[in-house]
Amino acid sequence: MPAPVDWDAVQAEQVEYYRARAPEYDESWTRRGDYDFGSAFNELWFAEVGRIDAALEDFGPIGRVLELAAGTGMWTERLGRSAASITALDVSPEMLAINRRRLTGSTVPVRHVEADLFGWTPDGRYDVISFAFWLTHVPPPRFEEFWSFVTSALAPQGRVFFADSAIPRAELPVLGRRFGFRGHAVEGVHSLTDLDRGVSVRQVRDGRRFQTVKVYWEPDELQERLRSLGWDIEVRATEWAFVYGHGGRRI
Ligand code: SAM
Repeated sequence: MPAPVDWDAVQAEQVEYYRARAPEYDESWTRRGDYDFGSAFNELWFAEVGRIDAALEDFGPIGRVLELAAGTGMWTERLGRSAASITALDVSPEMLAINRRRLTGSTVPVRHVEADLFGWTPDGRYDVISFAFWLTHVPPPRFEEFWSFVTSALAPQGRVFFADSAIPRAELPVLGRRFGFRGHAVEGVHSLTDLDRGVSVRQVRDGRRFQTVKVYWEPDELQERLRSLGWDIEVRATEWAFVYGHGGRRI
């Protein structure tokens, strides 16, 4: 039997990981440096990015938007195309510094909040709450607490949008030269994720290693779980790389 996971310890390391990773974070999304697997792969990747962009555009983030785990602002920028205002929250000052720089000159007012979302009391009710590549980082014992928090920050007719990584599968193009399965673990660029435990070990450029939470979801299972918590959220997948969901509280 594997040792039980100390989720508090993993979550604390996860915060440190993202603080350390901030300056190199965008490389995995934009396929630069060690994440550039060549033009054939990159083309497939950016086609998927186009699909998730289209999903957000169809959703239409309008009104007062709260973005959780906003990171370097790649999604803050996207939200800013239609939102009336954005509150971008993240625990990492390093991430927020990059986010601020990216959003300089935004025509939409952006307020940055440095906070651990698990300890943050919402300062209002938002029309839209959005979080990209965060849900897989929520420790399983805190899943319900997280969604209660989302409820507490959402306006009565408010809507939620999220995007995240899809479960890695051996046949998918992402599993090229630099990826591979080792039993129940999947090896990525500077990461090894134990799919059974939902814990990833990740390394930053200076060699430091950290544990993070990484709990993948099947779209149907996630949709059902959210239904049981009073949400009416449609969870879908793009062709291979992403899972996304949109909806609101069940009336
Ligand atoms: N949403 C951004 C994106 O998709 O580009 C960043 C996603 S990144 C995978 C996860 C983000 O969660 C990091 O910016 C990290 O600092 C932030 N984070 C980690 N733990 C957090 C917490 N407890 N409260 C708020 N933000 C947190």
